[in-house]
Amino acid sequence: MTPLQAADADARDTPRPDVLAPAPWTAVGADADGVRVTAVRTFLTGPQGCPYVVTRVETNQPGLYGLGDASDPQRPLATRTLIDEYLGPLLVGRDPADIEDLHRLLLNSGYWRGGSIEHNALASLDLALWDLKGKVAGLPVHQLLGGRAREHADAYTHVDGADAAEVAEKVLEAAGRGYRHVRVQVAVPGRDTYGTAPRDAAEAARRRARTDRWDTLAYLRHVPGILADVRDRVGPDVELLHDAHERMTPAEARQLVRAVEDAGLYFLEDALAPEDAAHFPELRAAGTTPLAVGELYHDPRAYLPLLAGRSIDFARIRIPTLGGLTPARKLVAVCEMFGVRTAPHGPGDVTPVGMAANMALNISSPAFGVQEAATFRDATLEVFPGAPVPAGGHLLASEAPGLGVDFDERAARRYPVGAPLEHDRWALLRATDGSAHRA
Ligand code: MG
Repeated sequence: MTPLQAADADARDTPRPDVLAPAPWTAVGADADGVRVTAVRTFLTGPQGCPYVVTRVETNQPGLYGLGDASDPQRPLATRTLIDEYLGPLLVGRDPADIEDLHRLLLNSGYWRGGSIEHNALASLDLALWDLKGKVAGLPVHQLLGGRAREHADAYTHVDGADAAEVAEKVLEAAGRGYRHVRVQVAVPGRDTYGTAPRDAAEAARRRARTDRWDTLAYLRHVPGILADVRDRVGPDVELLHDAHERMTPAEARQLVRAVEDAGLYFLEDALAPEDAAHFPELRAAGTTPLAVGELYHDPRAYLPLLAGRSIDFARIRIPTLGGLTPARKLVAVCEMFGVRTAPHGPGDVTPVGMAANMALNISSPAFGVQEAATFRDATLEVFPGAPVPAGGHLLASEAPGLGVDFDERAARRYPVGAPLEHDRWALLRATDGSAHRA
């Protein structure tokens, strides 16, 4: 008998009580004294000026609950309804510990499953389950994900302006506050431009009515030169980022990649819309500027061709849209395998609960690159005690159990969501010929 055959024989003769015994989750499910979900509640609040949908998963243990973020600023009521009427009731009575099982249960609960709204709703419950798991364990979520890979997460802030002098001044001011990474957006005179603040009351009124139009030709003629000028003015010691916000055709995007070479960007974001993602290899071939995309993706598998093709450098990840930490942590691990860094989405429409979920991944993943970090208003900090706040250009992960952020329901009631909702304004952008355009 060879050693291999001997090993086989031993294996066949060895009793396998671990296989014959009930699966652990069955045993836990029979424990009437265990933690059980008793209610799922949602809250709509607007302390940041945009609609936040917050989910609270409550349990039969006094004071033990988990918090989630279901914020979709264009579809808050639809997302909330999905939780209240369909997904939330499926959790009631269940053990919140089995996150993988529950995530799959919720994902498969609708035959025509999927989509960004469905995934936002699913994500809020998923985050709440991770928050609960951390609280039960007495550990921050990043410890549940493997522990620390870094001491802090570099953050990037946003600046904008009408010309290179104004933008450069703001970049240097941000650098003076400790930011190594700054996103720069440049206003195109007389045209709608993504990511820039109105210069005066008249422009603010035009923005609300969306009477200024999007003009790709003017953008391509104006913005790359300003970005190069900003680079000259601020020097090499600060990373500059720019977001094109998927407003161009594939051919126009290739022109942009060539035109921004002199700016030495850290990354160019969303040069292409998700619908045009198959053009990324030729965009990559058009220049050397690192490319970032992904905040609109709700299916983690949508990243796979871009990762396997080495067509992007940064994966933008919006945890609420992606369906929660459960799929996001797997995506981040795949990014690590392919040498692509992560740059999680974090403007003001991601709640502090969502930002805390970002930080759990950022601190624990070797693939992390940079975190977009909004400036939370005082009202938001009042509603969400423990909110992650950048200091010195970076964010620290909370060491509190769970996600480390709480939700003050009474304070939230003081900040009702105003009208009109964001989608009213979002839908009005038009191109120079009057056709409807992606905003
Ligand atoms: Mg963006």
